[in-house]
Amino acid sequence: MEDNNKSSRSKRKCSFCGLPEKQVGFMLEGQGVYICNNCVERAHEIVQEIIGKQQPEVNDLDLKELPKPKDIKEFLDQYVIGQDDAKRYLSVAVYNHYKRLLQPADQNDVEIEKSNIIMVGSTGTGKTLLARTIAKLLHVPFTIVDATVLTEAGYVGEDIESILTRLLQASDYNVEEAERGIVFIDEIDKIARKSDNPSITRDVSGEGVQQGLLKLLEGSVVNVPPQGGRKHPDQKMIPVNTKNILFICGGAFDGIERKIAQRLNTHVVGYRSVNETVKIDRSNLMQYIAPQDLKSFGLIPEIIGRLPVLTYLNPLDRVALRNILTEPKNSIIKQYVKLFAMDGVTLEFEPEVFEYIVDKAVEYKLGARGLRSIVESIMMDTMFEIPSNKVEKYTVTLDYAKEQMGKANLSRLQMA
Ligand code: ADP
Repeated sequence: MEDNNKSSRSKRKCSFCGLPEKQVGFMLEGQGVYICNNCVERAHEIVQEIIGKQQPEVNDLDLKELPKPKDIKEFLDQYVIGQDDAKRYLSVAVYNHYKRLLQPADQNDVEIEKSNIIMVGSTGTGKTLLARTIAKLLHVPFTIVDATVLTEAGYVGEDIESILTRLLQASDYNVEEAERGIVFIDEIDKIARKSDNPSITRDVSGEGVQQGLLKLLEGSVVNVPPQGGRKHPDQKMIPVNTKNILFICGGAFDGIERKIAQRLNTHVVGYRSVNETVKIDRSNLMQYIAPQDLKSFGLIPEIIGRLPVLTYLNPLDRVALRNILTEPKNSIIKQYVKLFAMDGVTLEFEPEVFEYIVDKAVEYKLGARGLRSIVESIMMDTMFEIPSNKVEKYTVTLDYAKEQMGKANLSRLQMA
């Protein structure tokens, strides 16, 4: 019986390549068929190849699958409180940007131009958060660069091209991916010319940097040093085309309200009736921002022209701060609740604690960024103790919050 088995085994041949069992490593048996290890490996390779081909090519976007502006705004609403105007502008601009990538390369057809974005609003009002959230939705490489570190070639600091190095790094050096990514340039106001009059000498940041930036914004092939920093002669460069990279710029533009007010005043006197003057909401002049205000602030007209979508962010009031604490999908409080839940502890807060935290943020002018530091100060001791104590539930009371804040050095937070 055993002999019989042996002889039938030795006759087994791979149903794919025909080799007998003796000449292969081992054989797998199916229903009346066999496959050798070599053919399994080959089949695996073929399957991988086919799957690879089926995956959308980098440029294979489908308009039907793109989130519509309303979908984009709804997504942003989950993470960012308020700022409705900025959200609407961003949603439309991003949607149009990706439509642009889908336009057929017909020379005679209407060509949709790039719609880079500039967001103006005080620090800590959600500019970076908006840009970051958009990138999360679109699954495209995203990077944040600080305009203050950029200088004209030849000066101490980083070359403009290093912006693209970061994007390459964010896409694991996949150039095609990077070429449709999003770059958030923070503190764009810091490279404004100091006065409205063009200077005759080169300034270290300022206009020279703006000229450099222009090249990236309008779309051109730029040689990028793969490791960033300063260029040196024998470094191998990676050419990156910025034509389809979306640039979102943000800046606080401190004092721009004065420029807006000046413009509104002259216009009001010159062209409008007294009745219309009353309609201007002087408590939030930012909503009237126009490209000429950016020019008065010191951005060169060419840059402004390359940032056609201009929007603003509102200062955060008490209600907004209170909502930021608990409402966003990954709000600060939800994060602490999760941290405690991982130790099996249900964390609760007396509602007055939230009001108290907002009070402190307003009192010390810490804005939304300060909320986390305040909560951290309140929770520090509890986070130290609770994991070792076997409690199932912990409630943060107003008295406890006040006591902890009494110990915390808030002026230290203020410096941060
Ligand atoms: P900006 O770029 O305008 O200086 P950020 O976007 O970096 O400000 O905001 C700093 C932090 O404050 C964010 O990480 C976020 O936690 C919080 N924050 C600011 N504005 C909002 C907002 N509108 N909605 C939710 N969180 C916000």
